[in-house]
Amino acid sequence: MSQTLPIEFAQHPHPAPTAPEKRAAILRDPGFGRAFTDHMVTIRYSEGKGWHDAKVGPREPIPMDPASAVLHYSQEIFEGLKAYRTANGGAVMFRPEENARRFNKSAERLAMPSLPEAAFVEAVDRLVTIDRDWIPEGEGSLYLRPFMFATEVFLGVKPSSEYLFIVIASPVGSYFKSKDSAVSVWVEQEFTRAAPGGTGAAKCGGNYAASLQAQMDAYKHGCEQVVFLDAVERRWIEELGGMNIFFVFDDSSMVTPPLGGTILPGITRASILTLAKDMKIAVREEPYALDQWRADAASGRLRETFACGTAAVLTPIGTVKSRDGDFVIGNGGSGAQTEKLKATLIDIQRCRAKDTHGWVHKVF
Ligand SMILES: *Cc1c(COP(=O)(O)O)cnc(C)c1O
Repeated sequence: MSQTLPIEFAQHPHPAPTAPEKRAAILRDPGFGRAFTDHMVTIRYSEGKGWHDAKVGPREPIPMDPASAVLHYSQEIFEGLKAYRTANGGAVMFRPEENARRFNKSAERLAMPSLPEAAFVEAVDRLVTIDRDWIPEGEGSLYLRPFMFATEVFLGVKPSSEYLFIVIASPVGSYFKSKDSAVSVWVEQEFTRAAPGGTGAAKCGGNYAASLQAQMDAYKHGCEQVVFLDAVERRWIEELGGMNIFFVFDDSSMVTPPLGGTILPGITRASILTLAKDMKIAVREEPYALDQWRADAASGRLRETFACGTAAVLTPIGTVKSRDGDFVIGNGGSGAQTEKLKATLIDIQRCRAKDTHGWVHKVF
């Protein structure tokens, strides 16, 4: 299923790209994931032929046969990463090779072909380059969404023999609509996100489909996000619908749930583990129970809790609600250590601090 020959990309610029005034209006308030750039990258795969027909072209609808496998059995995976403008007029991405590697891990779990990591990175590089005018200034960034899905026209249950890999891009501002910096979360005690042996560690659309009912519960209780518990004991905190979680204690040490197949291995999570080590902050990757979270918040031993992921970077959690009652973390707002880690990470991502770990990938 692997392939070593380099993939050649054809380039067909959009004949009628968005007018500069219209683009500027969109970039003034892009929101999250609702505006898109002019181009997309596509690469096809078929058994026997391997990866082929790579191109950068206008973003356009993709004709699909109603019997396409993905529409029936959800063989689909995706990634999410951002491109940032730098002070000198260039553009960078944060650890895209890690996204390429994780994409292939997800592919393996869903019995899909692996895409050479170099082709993944070249695809996102090319899209950022051709749509460079769409990278917002200031706090914003260009969110890149690579994804792959099964296109074989067949209703039998088996891995598809054909796939389409696509990258689209969306200029984004801040992820959360609310102006308060801290979010409230709903601890879901009925529905779970991922079971041992399941697909929790893969970034696949199916995990999100299964999380939406819990997300609706969260909205119903006035919360922005869901916290999922483990599927076996419904006791251990795992992660949010699309973000990992860290707990900060009064001695500045931190706890984050261990990766064990049911948690998505976040690149932000991994980067925070490294930054914490640099900053001499002790982090324990160990299970943490909902009851303990509540008790530690009440006693003051727990000072802060934050969620982390590419889309929202670091987001403080201020209020926790569940069917057993609500509790507040710290003063209900953000905390000093959350803000320190967030600033450190963002400064590296935006080339304002020294990149001692080689995380920043220059696009141009
Ligand atoms: C993408 C994702 C994350 C965060 O991963 P990053 O690489 O940090 O963006 C966390 N949890 C889930 C379920 C995800 O899909």
